[in-house]
Amino acid sequence: MHASKFHINTLKEAPSEAEVASHQLMTRAGMIRKAAGGIYTYMPLALRVLRKIETVVREEMNRAGALELLMPVVQPAELWEESGRWQEYGPELLRIKDRHNRDFVLQPTSEELVTDIVRNEIHSWRQLPVNFYHIQTKFRDERRPRFGLMRGREFTMKDAYSFDRDEASAQASYDAMFAAYHRIFTRLGLTYRAVAADTGSIGGSRSHEFQVIADTGEDLIVYNPDSDYAANIELAEAPCLLPERKPAAASLEKTPTPQAPKCEMVAELLGRPLSDTVKSIVLATDTDEGAVIWLLLVRGDHELNEIKASKLPGFENGHRFATEEEILDVFGCPPGYLGPIGTRRPVRVIADTTVANMSDFICGANEEGFHYTGVNWGRDLPEPAVADLRNVVAGDPDPRGGRLAIQRGIEVGHVFFLGDKYSKALQATFLETDGKPAILQMGCYGIGISRIAAAAIEQNHDDKGIIWPRGIAPFEVVICTMGWNKSETVRNEAGKLYEQLQQMGVDVILDDRDIRPGVMFADWELIGVPLRVTIGDRGLQEGVVEIQARRNGVTHKVALSDALARIK
Ligand code: ATP
Ligand code: MG
Ligand code: MG
Ligand code: MG
Repeated sequence: MHASKFHINTLKEAPSEAEVASHQLMTRAGMIRKAAGGIYTYMPLALRVLRKIETVVREEMNRAGALELLMPVVQPAELWEESGRWQEYGPELLRIKDRHNRDFVLQPTSEELVTDIVRNEIHSWRQLPVNFYHIQTKFRDERRPRFGLMRGREFTMKDAYSFDRDEASAQASYDAMFAAYHRIFTRLGLTYRAVAADTGSIGGSRSHEFQVIADTGEDLIVYNPDSDYAANIELAEAPCLLPERKPAAASLEKTPTPQAPKCEMVAELLGRPLSDTVKSIVLATDTDEGAVIWLLLVRGDHELNEIKASKLPGFENGHRFATEEEILDVFGCPPGYLGPIGTRRPVRVIADTTVANMSDFICGANEEGFHYTGVNWGRDLPEPAVADLRNVVAGDPDPRGGRLAIQRGIEVGHVFFLGDKYSKALQATFLETDGKPAILQMGCYGIGISRIAAAAIEQNHDDKGIIWPRGIAPFEVVICTMGWNKSETVRNEAGKLYEQLQQMGVDVILDDRDIRPGVMFADWELIGVPLRVTIGDRGLQEGVVEIQARRNGVTHKVALSDALARIK
């Protein structure tokens, strides 16, 4: 590719609405252009990046045995009615009508459609397990689309769906995807962390998120630097990742017993007695939505059930607890309270609503030394509150004896163990060895292709622009020619180097534009090409070219004959 034939249109200024580096830099580099809020054109430079990300994802999905297909963006409402999500999904689901007044959705995810495919295609245990995936446009009418490709309304996702005979086999499929995700994010050259996570509106039980570490991330992760405990603070409970239990810290014993929640009231609201296995209750508010209360029931096996207050009898109409007093009045304990039921000893609230600007951060442990956090707060947590939280966590010993640290992260991938949630609703069955029909066990696995491009920039940029990891850079190498139009020697040598690099399989662009060197260099620094080779008459007289690494700016004069080896 010659730059004169490529579309390069860099800008000095970023749009005023661009709050984060990736949004600013992708716009300034000419990678994305806005069509409407949260809807962008991927310009040729960005598309090259996205295709490279897709290639890595595709290779690893195929290697893990998943099969690529392509499901439609427009999907019939009937399937969504069958699963119940036509009612449940809320305003993020874009609903459209065709000319016959039939309802459709623009897919935000594809559990329903893939389950419909599978119930028609898979009949026997002999055809299992199977894992179908596609890389396709998604639409979510996000309440606050922002940060460019990071939280778009239209975006590109890879979503995979596994179908198995039984839970054990489904678990193995989940583990295979978990391992594939590690390979993907390592190959993409990103610093990331796998964390235990909430299952959100997709449902299901076990789930992990893959979080790219970046200060601008919208998620908060708590982790133990000395163990493999890590959880998204959105709703963090990670029995599977917990290290061996240790006795509780002595200081826990001294914690005064807070007033227990009115169990009868909770049972009444639930319409059934609290099960023996429920050991504690967390009351949490979501100030984002106006203090909607959530009940988190923590079972003895550390499973955590989440119940939206709006699902409780008497609260169906979205009753909102406007004040803390009201919550106190109904439940007998304040929001953010993590309390025991029955004979269990109290858990300690390390931080709660008293922390400035924080709606409900809870972090505690019971007498078994088990640690968990239950949190749900507004996304726009101001910085001082995060600092407060940092102090709270880093001042306060981990109940298990360690210390917790906190980081911001960008969710780039999410794996869910779904069980029979969708297969049951859509009656996706197969014939077992005994000839009897059985329900399929499912898992689903998403990766935000377009979000990864933005996340990579959040992690890799400086004041001059983007610094792409080599594997996903729009070009790996740029040859900057000094005087292409004037010097035949420059044209010959640069052309030769360009041909050789191409033959070696290096993704190279040759800049033959008739512009000042400073302008040319600034363009490529902004666009973020990892290696720059500068070829001019002056160097060629000494038989050298200049090679500069974008990341550290270090420049080497290299004999023309050594250039290829240095670049490879
Ligand atoms: P978030 O918590 O950021 O809203 P999510 O949990 O709703 O994301 P999932 O349903 O788990 O997202 O979808 C799988 C992946 O799709 C996410 O891990 C993320 O990488 C990507 N993704 C989700 N929403 C968006 C969006 N609005 N723009 C870009 N990518 C997105
Ligand atoms: Mg979301
Ligand atoms: Mg999420
Ligand atoms: Mg998610």
